[in-house]
Amino acid sequence: MTTLTLALHAMATRFEMVLHGENPVALRAAGEEALAEIERLEAQLSLYRDTSEIAHLNARAAQGPVRVTPSLFALLLHAQQLHRQSGGAFDITIAPLVRCWGFMGGGGHLPDAAALAAARASMGMSLVELDPDQLTVRFASAGVMLDLGAIGKGYAVDRAIDILREAAVASALLHGGTSTVFGLGHPPDAESWKVAVECPRHGMLRARAGVPPGRGQDARATLMERARAEISATIQPQRAPGQTLATVPLRDEAMSVSAVWGRSFQAEGKTFGHVLDPRTGCPVSEAVLAAVVLPSATETDALSTALLVLGMEGRAKLAGLRPGMKSLLAAEARGQFRVESDGLAITGVR
Ligand code: AMP
Ligand code: MG
Repeated sequence: MTTLTLALHAMATRFEMVLHGENPVALRAAGEEALAEIERLEAQLSLYRDTSEIAHLNARAAQGPVRVTPSLFALLLHAQQLHRQSGGAFDITIAPLVRCWGFMGGGGHLPDAAALAAARASMGMSLVELDPDQLTVRFASAGVMLDLGAIGKGYAVDRAIDILREAAVASALLHGGTSTVFGLGHPPDAESWKVAVECPRHGMLRARAGVPPGRGQDARATLMERARAEISATIQPQRAPGQTLATVPLRDEAMSVSAVWGRSFQAEGKTFGHVLDPRTGCPVSEAVLAAVVLPSATETDALSTALLVLGMEGRAKLAGLRPGMKSLLAAEARGQFRVESDGLAITGVR
């Protein structure tokens, strides 16, 4: 049995992969092909690359319909469906608001009131017209801008996992910035991959102390320190017991974690995070961490963001959307953390 680890810097984070298999040459070829696909998707989907298809769309679609590749069109349709199903909590037209709150390539700041009003006026999926016959996208007004930041990493993980499956890889773990993790099959010596979710108290303390996430890593959900440092047969959560909220088993499933402390700033005695509520125009408050487990990483990525936005009331609403969906939600009120779970065992301190 061979174990191989590979890593790639893409989508402003670090993707890491551990693969197990019998044939080292075939394993490496499959892993490298999967990472190449992630690189290709970054070049297509990144808002921050002038040459990406998304940048092209953002620059032109207010002037008239822009034809996009079938895969991007399918992803936009999926995002539109997730927007509808989440009652508008997941919204890829969030970009003007992200910029206004200083999170577009920055660490965030309080917005100017006039800029906030303008940003809110150019948001909303109803301003995005998708034509399935022509595969075109048109924005109904100037100022509309798409940001796939809450779904792109999950989508990239799914496409990379497709490549591994096609190459008959039976056992692999892949994560993007620790916020979306996919466990393909299981490790040779265990029935599932085990992924740790960071305790919200610990995460929020770090955010308040201004400790940035590790380089190229959001440090929300997981482990992987060991996988990066060395080639290890099994990946186990590496956090101290008091810092782990839950240890989630994954087998042919993905987990995504959205957390306020993924990127945040402090002002007026409060923590403002990078997940924004399209209904209020402000960063999410109360809910501090949301995790979702499903077979599709595209969906866990989008729905964990949506769950963070919706908070406790959103749990029942989202749980009914996909059979078998498991989730965790942590909220903070007056220094107290409340954690609720659907189908995931909470093991750590709350
Ligand atoms: P995630 O870490 O997957 O929860 O994604 C957060 C990123 O998605 C942010 O940094 C923004 O770029 C973007 N975003 C923020 N709020 C939303 C929202 N309500 N819906 C969709 N994308 C969002
Ligand atoms: Mg997300």
